[in-house]
Amino acid sequence: MIQTEGLCKFYRGSNNEEIRAVDNVSLTIAAGRFAVLTGPSGSGKTTLLSLLGALSRPSSGSIVLKGRELNTCSDVELARVRRNIGFVFQNFSLLPRLPVWENVTYPLIPRGILAPARFEIAREVLQRLGVASKIENRPDQLSGGEQQRVAVARALACEPQILLADEPTSNLDRRAAAELTGIFREIHATGVTLILSTHNTELLDLATDVFELNEGKMTCP
Ligand code: ADP
Ligand code: MG
Repeated sequence: MIQTEGLCKFYRGSNNEEIRAVDNVSLTIAAGRFAVLTGPSGSGKTTLLSLLGALSRPSSGSIVLKGRELNTCSDVELARVRRNIGFVFQNFSLLPRLPVWENVTYPLIPRGILAPARFEIAREVLQRLGVASKIENRPDQLSGGEQQRVAVARALACEPQILLADEPTSNLDRRAAAELTGIFREIHATGVTLILSTHNTELLDLATDVFELNEGKMTCP
């Protein structure tokens, strides 16, 4: 499903020094796996996820996603590749002025799906995640756990084959984290390939593959 070879992403620091956020990472994640990236803060988890999700381009090295070498893709082709990928950001990234159902389905607007159909799609996904009662609410009227479910619902509304989530339980209390863990277990059971970054031991227990990062380098777990 996803294969990287010698993947690197370097940034320039404030003193023009080189920051090796992701440094020579080669990994393979087969379809249907539950992969977890772990490692201390600053080890490159977010950077690697954004590369795997085709949200940013590597400094060097290759990513092959479903048989496509992303380096050779134009921006338009990358956008098409991204349609197979759902992304749950660490800070939820919900739009505060929009009701929950719009938050869940605005990514479907470019696909030409009209509002009534989007409302129905939102209702269905939110029901799966147990937050359908909040469909008309704005994000600030929701608890952290509910907001995170809405963020997961938005990623699922596009029916992705791959779901990426960046430290999805880090802003949640224990109970909400445990509930979200159950949701990821169910999503995985539907055949979606999951790639999460986390320190959460319950999520780590579900993993079929664990990749550990340290200063941008992958270390064997
Ligand atoms: P993690 O998610 O494991 O905490 P990150 O991928 O966010 O790690 O960051 C890895 C390293 O890259 C850190 O040293 C961070 O400061 C640096 N970094 C991340 N994004 C940028 C950026 N846009 N510009 C400069 N440095 C960055
Ligand atoms: Mg991070």
